[in-house]
Parts: sequence; C-alpha cells; structure tokens
Amino acid sequence: MCPRRARGGGRPLLSGQEVDMGDWREATTLEELYEAIKDCMACPLGRTRTHLVLGSGDPEAEIMFVGEAPGFHEDRQGIPFVGPAGQFLDQLLRSIGLKRSQVYIANTLKCRPPENRDPLPEELSACTPYLFKQIELIRPRIICTLGNHATRTLLRTGTGISQLHGKLIRKGGLAYVPLFHPAAALHKPPLKAVLVEDFQRLKEHLDAERVRWEAEEGLPEETLTAAEDQPEQMGLF
Ligand code: SF4
Repeated sequence: MCPRRARGGGRPLLSGQEVDMGDWREATTLEELYEAIKDCMACPLGRTRTHLVLGSGDPEAEIMFVGEAPGFHEDRQGIPFVGPAGQFLDQLLRSIGLKRSQVYIANTLKCRPPENRDPLPEELSACTPYLFKQIELIRPRIICTLGNHATRTLLRTGTGISQLHGKLIRKGGLAYVPLFHPAAALHKPPLKAVLVEDFQRLKEHLDAERVRWEAEEGLPEETLTAAEDQPEQMGLF
C-alpha cells in the first residue's frame, strides 16, 4: 500500500500484515517522522530490512544529500552512508570545509533492497513521499542528488548524471546540484577526480546561494514566491 493512504491514521498493509503508523504526514520533526514510519511495511523491502534508515545530520541543514538506498552497513547500523562510500563522502565534505554534522544525508529508499539491487519503480513510488516530507521539514537551500536514481526521482528528468553533474539546477523554488554517487567513484576511479572537482563547484554554488539568500532576507515576505514558501506544494512532487 502506498504511504499516501496513511493519511488520517493510515495503516499500511502488506500481505495481511497491518502496522499502525499514525499519521506520518502530520509529523513536525524528523524524530516524529521516524517514530511514525519506523515499522513501515508499505513495500516488500520492509520484510527484509534490519533497520529503516531515515537519514542523519543537521535537521536545519543548508545542504541535503540524497543517495539511492541503504546498503549492507547502513541496514545493519540504521545510519546512511557509513560504508566505504560514506567515508569517501566524508572526505569530499572535508575538502570544502564541511563536516557530516553540518549537512543532512538521506536516500530515496529507506530500506535496503536485497543484494543492493536497483530500486524498483513500485518501491520508489511507495517510499518517496517520506523523502518529500523530509525535504519539507528540513527546507534545505541546496539538494545534492547522488547518482542517477536520486537525480531522476527528484528532478523528474530523463537526462543522465553524466550530463547534469556539478550544475546548479533550479526547479520548483529549490536549487539542486546533481553529483555522481560516491560508490560509483569507488568502482570507477576516474570519477573520483570528477567528484572532487564537482565538490569545489558545489562550494561555489553554495557561496553564491548565500549571497542570494541574504538579499532575499531583506525583501518583504510577500515578494517571495509561493513555491519557496511551500516547497511541498511546488508542483515538483
Ligand atoms: S522502503 Fe520505504 S516504503 Fe518500503 S518498507 Fe521501507 S520505508 Fe516503507
């Protein structure tokens, strides 16, 4: 059952199993969201996970990273990006003067697909409403989509990461910077240098965005776009 049906005290069902999740859409914090969905069985991945991995980091982060799905280590620990790809992401963050605690990291899927296979369309359909709720709560200034799945899910584009990486793309009142997934760079070493370079571009984008935000802060509230006031309503989702 799609989580959308959890509205109004929904009870996601899967093959006879019933889990009372309350109304996760009413969550006002990431902790409340986690408590509301931690027993989710809205897709078959709920049966095989060890932990649901919601995300980690600063709940008011300016930059949010969105990867694909938890892997082996993430499933065991309940924390995103803790394996070798996570260590590389930490290095990349340090290269632009950021710590993991200063950003927020999540995935499109909250539970690990068996053998780390690609997410299925029905799994993405069931799970991405939780990601959109996270974005609504965090209200990041820049969302970095890591790899093709996250990029296509959030930007609704058929254009691949090879063409989009490192660019700042505005859509629906938010700014996105697609990046190669750190795990891909571990498998294809030439991509490491590309990611290092793209993180420098990300820093430049962030610096430029900060100037823009400061200018916006001086404007009357009514001059800001409705899309920016209500990111969940911006038509992107
Ligand atoms: S992957 Fe998402 S929709 Fe599927 S069971 Fe896990 S939390 Fe629920």
